[in-house]
Amino acid sequence: MGPLTYETAFERDPPPGAHLASGSCSTKWANMDVQESAISTDRVSPSTKLQVQDPAVLSEVERLLAGRTRDIRLKGKLRLLFQERSWPRTAKIVRAWMTWVVVLDVVTLALNAILLPKAIALSMLLPACLLPPAAMATAFVWQRPRAQWLQRISIIAGLFLIFLSVALVGVSAGGEFYERHLNIMLFVAITAIIIFGVPLNWTVTVASLALGLYLVFQLQNPSLEKGSAVAATLFFASGIIATVVARRTMTILAQKTFLLELRDRSRVAELADANARLERLARTDPLTGISNRRWMMETLDHLWSDGMERRGCAMLMCDIDEFKNLNDRLGHAEGDRCLVKVAGIIQSSVRRNRDHVARYGGEEFLIVLPGVDEREAIAMGERIRGSVEAASLPNPASRVLPYVTLSIGVAAQRPGDEIIPPERLQNQADAALYLAKQAGRNRVVLHKAGALGT
Ligand code: GH3
Ligand code: MG
Ligand code: MG
Repeated sequence: MGPLTYETAFERDPPPGAHLASGSCSTKWANMDVQESAISTDRVSPSTKLQVQDPAVLSEVERLLAGRTRDIRLKGKLRLLFQERSWPRTAKIVRAWMTWVVVLDVVTLALNAILLPKAIALSMLLPACLLPPAAMATAFVWQRPRAQWLQRISIIAGLFLIFLSVALVGVSAGGEFYERHLNIMLFVAITAIIIFGVPLNWTVTVASLALGLYLVFQLQNPSLEKGSAVAATLFFASGIIATVVARRTMTILAQKTFLLELRDRSRVAELADANARLERLARTDPLTGISNRRWMMETLDHLWSDGMERRGCAMLMCDIDEFKNLNDRLGHAEGDRCLVKVAGIIQSSVRRNRDHVARYGGEEFLIVLPGVDEREAIAMGERIRGSVEAASLPNPASRVLPYVTLSIGVAAQRPGDEIIPPERLQNQADAALYLAKQAGRNRVVLHKAGALGT
């Protein structure tokens, strides 16, 4: 058994009832994931933690979910939270897509070198070389969270250079490759627009750039009339616009899922909080704020099923002397105040996190000291009895002293002894308390084997 630290316990322990006030906050939102501090800048972090306590944000969540899905627009903090939440997935997609186009570019070049006439293959080489660095630079930017403006520029500039590279390969090769590569460029643009979950204005910019390049190069296509170039651009524009709309719908659905998740989490946290509060109330004595008898019974069962009786355990049954006289003389309200003070003295005398104190009955308190032997239990009892006496709480009608005093019965289960159930140990402490009362009160009496109640 480790050394006891009763001397310091007095200063460390909070007054009774303090735990009631503090408990609910610590568990609140404990299971939520994004740190709010992370959204104070425009840089998004890959954190998947989401912690939303802000009532304004939560009421905005409710408002958006109550409206039509298509009207969902995330603003301010909520938008940043969503970006933070979706960043890892978006970044992964951006990096994978960039790698994919580089691989495609290199494979196409190699095939062209094998299959096409040398002059054509060589003419494709230079513009095709523009793509890998642009794609890799973009992938590099999306390696970790960066400022919003950098991410936007990397996507827009990166994609523009990739589109330009694909288009120039066709322009440079000429002939049948001219239009084919412009179509490939639009295909590349469509895949990017559809799978990049980036803000709508970025998507629109990317779509406009792709269409703009298409129009500019088609207007210069020697084998195409100007009117046909415009008509082709308009034709592809309708497809691209449909793609942008599809992207927007996907983003709104993702945002709705995010809002539902936020609401669920906040409700689960509220429920857990309310449950924890109820649980605490059910185990707490409302007058003194310390634990009640129900909690003590549960604790004893727990301790004994944990094998506590084998490690030794002491019980102290404390009873305020002449308490009826105090009530009769000073009134019930003063009696209540006395109970609160005595509970406080007892609670602050025991070792926090190791010993257990409960208001057992009207003016009775049960203390359980795990791993404590008879000698230490008596010392503890004396310490509590002395502290109550020293507090000089008035009890003018007491026949013991004009102050509040405490009688304490002590019983201990020694580690090597025959194992007895907690009720029996409690009966022994009760019997010792009876003897303390009989012997004149204001004293600590240890239960002896063979005495009453054993
Ligand atoms: P003894 O020294 O033998 O213990 O005498 P006592 O007067 O303390 O014991 P008794 O059992 O005769 O009286 C206990 C009193 O405690 C009776 C009851 O009115 C009072 N009591 C019980 N619960 C409360 C309470 O919550 N508040 C107040 N003010 N009094 C209470
Ligand atoms: Mg009593
Ligand atoms: Mg009493």
